[in-house]
Amino acid sequence: MDNKKIISWIVPCFNEEKVIFETLKRIKKVSTNINQFNWELILIDDGSRDNTKKIIKEIKKYPFKIILLSFSRNFGHQQAVQAGLDNCSGSASIIIDADLQDPPEIAKKMIEKWEKGYQVVYGQRTIRRKENFLKKFSAFTFYRLLNFLSGVKIPLDTGDFRLVDRTVIDALKKFPEKGRFMRGLIAWIGFKQISVKYIRDPRFAGTTKYSLKKMVSFAIEGLTNFSRKPLRLATFTGFIFSLFAFVGMAYVLYIRFFTQSWVAGWAAICMTILLSSGIQLIFIGLLGEYIGNIFFETKNRPLYIIEERFIINER
Ligand code: UDP
Ligand code: MG
Repeated sequence: MDNKKIISWIVPCFNEEKVIFETLKRIKKVSTNINQFNWELILIDDGSRDNTKKIIKEIKKYPFKIILLSFSRNFGHQQAVQAGLDNCSGSASIIIDADLQDPPEIAKKMIEKWEKGYQVVYGQRTIRRKENFLKKFSAFTFYRLLNFLSGVKIPLDTGDFRLVDRTVIDALKKFPEKGRFMRGLIAWIGFKQISVKYIRDPRFAGTTKYSLKKMVSFAIEGLTNFSRKPLRLATFTGFIFSLFAFVGMAYVLYIRFFTQSWVAGWAAICMTILLSSGIQLIFIGLLGEYIGNIFFETKNRPLYIIEERFIINER
């Protein structure tokens, strides 16, 4: 074996039978063009219920090592990425989606920056081709809200498409937390970071694996794991409402004792009750989110369970 450095591709796959073959082809082409490194490919099958695993297992004649980690069920995108980082042996790794929305060709630019000494090179999307309005709008608002709320500055419009150096991989492995929000953790971690701009392509085939439900829970997880500001916001809102309440009370007492018209005001009372009880419920829910996070952290369950580990192609 020569002593070229290894770079590992990390590809989380969930029901990607329609694209995985093409993805592997593109990755192969890009990697063989960048031949001053040895490559390794870690595929994580996140409990796919289609033929993803079968297709991967049938790959032959690939120019470098492929490891397939197969989860016992669907644990989620972030968990799959972590499994890849835990199991890769590269001096750096490139995390990339399986659906070719992140063009593997950008790897070349990422590696150039890495060789200049940057430890995190994250892909930042400038244009998103052919994604629907809801997706674009929710992503746009989410990243801005998250930055507004959290102490760490998470770069806008980035996903998990990024190159991370071995120092960062090792640092990430030491994180015991279960609320895994990788792009937040990587921003928090420090080191020298830089962006590479790219155009986000449409999905090559298949449909998004982030259902609305998954997206909402991803957003809540990101927010509540990275910031205590929502809790503080709750406290402040509480104070402001109390202030209004005091003013309101003074007004009520005044009407009651100094005027003759004190039966009126039914509508005002109803509205106040409805509004304040709604707000209270929201904040109780918010508290619940944080308590839920504590609950999961204290259980200390493993992040994911690997059912089988295959070495598809040894080289
Ligand atoms: N993914 C995963 N587990 C999941 C959901 C998604 O491993 O539970 C993978 C998926 O196969 C893809 C990446 O995460 O490689 C991003 O998912 P997708 O492209 O569906 O998300 P979108 O681009 O629509 O946000
Ligand atoms: Mg995608």
